Amino acid sequence: MKQIVNYINNEWIDPKTSEYIEVTNPATGQVIAKTPLCGETEVDMAAKAAAKAFPSWRQTPVQDRIQYLFRLRDLLKENHDEISRVITKECGKTFGESKAEMVRAIENVEVACGMPMMMKGDVSEDISPGIDEIMLRQPLGVCATIAPFNFPGMIPFWYLPYALATGNTYIIKPSEKVPMTMKFIFSLIEQVGFPNGVVNMVNGAKNAVDAILDHPAIRAITFVGSTQTAKYIYRRAAENGKRVQAQGGAKNPVIILPDADMEMTSTMVADSAFGCAGQRCLAVSLAITVADARNSFTEMICDAASTRTVGYGLDDGVQMGPVINSHSKERVEQLIETGSKEGASALVDGRGTTINGYEEGAFVRPTILADVEPGSDIWKTEIFGPVLSMMHVNSVEDAIELTNSHIYGNQASLFTSSGRAARKFRYEIDAGNVGINIGVAAPMAFFPFGGSRGSFYGDLKAQGQDAIDFYTDKRVVITRW
Ligand code: NAD
Repeated sequence: MKQIVNYINNEWIDPKTSEYIEVTNPATGQVIAKTPLCGETEVDMAAKAAAKAFPSWRQTPVQDRIQYLFRLRDLLKENHDEISRVITKECGKTFGESKAEMVRAIENVEVACGMPMMMKGDVSEDISPGIDEIMLRQPLGVCATIAPFNFPGMIPFWYLPYALATGNTYIIKPSEKVPMTMKFIFSLIEQVGFPNGVVNMVNGAKNAVDAILDHPAIRAITFVGSTQTAKYIYRRAAENGKRVQAQGGAKNPVIILPDADMEMTSTMVADSAFGCAGQRCLAVSLAITVADARNSFTEMICDAASTRTVGYGLDDGVQMGPVINSHSKERVEQLIETGSKEGASALVDGRGTTINGYEEGAFVRPTILADVEPGSDIWKTEIFGPVLSMMHVNSVEDAIELTNSHIYGNQASLFTSSGRAARKFRYEIDAGNVGINIGVAAPMAFFPFGGSRGSFYGDLKAQGQDAIDFYTDKRVVITRW
């Protein structure tokens, strides 16, 4: 069993708490680690170390700061398989999905390596005769990230490389459910040899988060997780005067028009709904068929759902792993029951799944719930499991209206062969990430990532130029000589 410790000021620091929670391999049910529930003491140590490191890290030329990131990128690539195995063990997704997750993490490090070009300021000469105006970008100081369980390797990298490259110092608090991935990645960070205190890790749950939200030395906070926690973090961090960005939950619709290529559509929707066992903030979880699209799509998606190979993500040929733990399995199964009670029909029912050799695993097979009603609990609730709810409307206008009436707005996709319908959808849909004939509209690292409405609290998003804007303050200097 792995003992999880903290990484503060370039040292592995034992937790000061005796409270731990167990981490299980969701496929085997085996306890594989214990996460210490650290709090104020450890956060204070990390924040002080990061604050002390800040002045000289800020003064380190940006072209030197990124040399550390080049080294980190190489180590992440060299250890790609090993990190991916750790992700699968603690998070449940397949080895292929874990590898794909780390490709995205590495891509963010690579983009941040362009920081010498990207964080330059602006100058205007003669804003009045002989007077020049300069805009400089300066780092903020100590920045922290609070991460969710579903992408233990990727999500910290929406932030860490940009925060460091722009000259900030940094603290990550991984999800207490999946602490092993960042522990492994910090063993690589240790090899990179950042100066003391530049990058730190504190493990824990609510107490650690609250200590981060309240710590006076921490200037900016990024959060990814459920909407309930996102709202709490956004409010409390803002009350404490911090710059904050909080990415929340999702219930992503896909609208299928009758002129879509049904074979491609059903394959892509199945991959989106059941990939990572539906535990992706960009997973499609509502399929809205329009007019005649209903029959052919329903038949094909049911076929794709019932033939998916479910098992341990490290075994060959497995297409879908378990959900994160037995509590989550129970919750997903209860929500399927709620849907049935509300009048939806389970065309494919994944409840009661056991996988030979992994009887203790938290497996739920792909599930299709048809005839879900707008306004029902199953329509409103983010299930975060391999459950695709289906709805039917008569026009693309109705589908757009239904989509925009939902509290979440993380992703919405349309499948069609009509350019006109695609343009209308792109123009009218209220979602942060929009897909046209795409199942998972995940932006590359050089584009901003973030949702709309109940899926996002803040203004500047993750990745790309937004990350540089988030991690720098713009200073204006006006000079006359
Ligand atoms: P979560 O909100 O339970 O936990 C996320 C983080 O917040 C963890 O580090 C946890 O320790 C902390 N936390 C949890 N409850 C807290 C509380 N009451 N007070 C203070 N801190 C608290 O989310 P999760 O279950 O780890 O992740 C799944 C959720 O994340 C889903 O809703 C999913 O849609 C969302 N998600 C969103 C995005 C996005 O980009 N919008 C990406 C990935 C995941």
